[in-house]
Amino acid sequence: MKRFAVFGHPVSHSLSPCIHAAFAAQCGIALEYTAIDAPPERFAQAVEAFARNGGAGANVTLPHKGAAAALCTAVSERARRAGAVNTLIRVNDGWHGDNTDGTGLVRDLVARHGLDLRGRRTLLLGAGGATRGVVPALIDAGIGELVVANRTRANADTLVAAVAGEHAARTCELAELPSLGAFDLVINATSAARADGLPVLPASLARASTAAVDLGYGAAAAPFLAWARDAGIEARVDGLGMLVEQAAESVLCWHGVRPDTGPVYAALRGACPQPAADR
Ligand code: NDP
Repeated sequence: MKRFAVFGHPVSHSLSPCIHAAFAAQCGIALEYTAIDAPPERFAQAVEAFARNGGAGANVTLPHKGAAAALCTAVSERARRAGAVNTLIRVNDGWHGDNTDGTGLVRDLVARHGLDLRGRRTLLLGAGGATRGVVPALIDAGIGELVVANRTRANADTLVAAVAGEHAARTCELAELPSLGAFDLVINATSAARADGLPVLPASLARASTAAVDLGYGAAAAPFLAWARDAGIEARVDGLGMLVEQAAESVLCWHGVRPDTGPVYAALRGACPQPAADR
């Protein structure tokens, strides 16, 4: 039986073992998929120990996506553009890395939620590993001007310089948000709700046609989706669909087959209703 895992810190909350067990059953693939908690200073060691014990592939989540890229002998084009890896594939000469976050997000927004991303003036809140993964895919999907706002401005500057290429993109401080006007797409890619809480967001960022997306799900998505509801935004999406889609894309990397995400998403949605779904 092939061994797979998700590495994170913390990781006990992860739905990935459940999602990958469902995909494996659907595709008739025999595998074991576990969650491995590794603090940053032990991440590389933990991944090598996993390889020695027959690890064939892994997902990587917060806060290890940059470190995962650094230990790969080769990375895909989309992982190279992102400078971050969320999928490890064991090959003869070591680990190859890919990044399925951006593809997962765009597939969820466009195919599941029917959003046309083309030309949308986009605000991304946060400049961590998730933002790195999704910016290239959003640009490829045709978004308009991109503004990345982050608590630590320097992290946003580094990210935009590395990831946005020739696209019209700029950064700002969170304190500048009231002066930016309205956006067509506002994405919360911070982990703030798990820490000190969501920064104060002005209602002026929204118009009725704006779409609001939180990459988190469950309680982590609740404050941002409540802000979006109170700002009058109808199109509100949490990160559950992205989670399922990026996992399916990882299955394609490992096994060469793309599972049907519909039933797995429906089952998880039943167990994890979207917060602030009411008006
Ligand atoms: P990182 O740790 O790499 O980055 C965290 C980001 O949040 C940084 O920009 C950080 O700012 C910011 N931040 C943290 N605390 C606060 C705060 N109190 N106020 C304002 N900003 C804050 O995390 P990731 O980028 O990997 O993940 C971000 C979110 O996206 C998480 O909720 C994660 O669960 C979710 N995610 C969901 C996925 C899905 O499939 N649905 C996939 C990947 C991620 P600073 O630079 O100043 O530290």
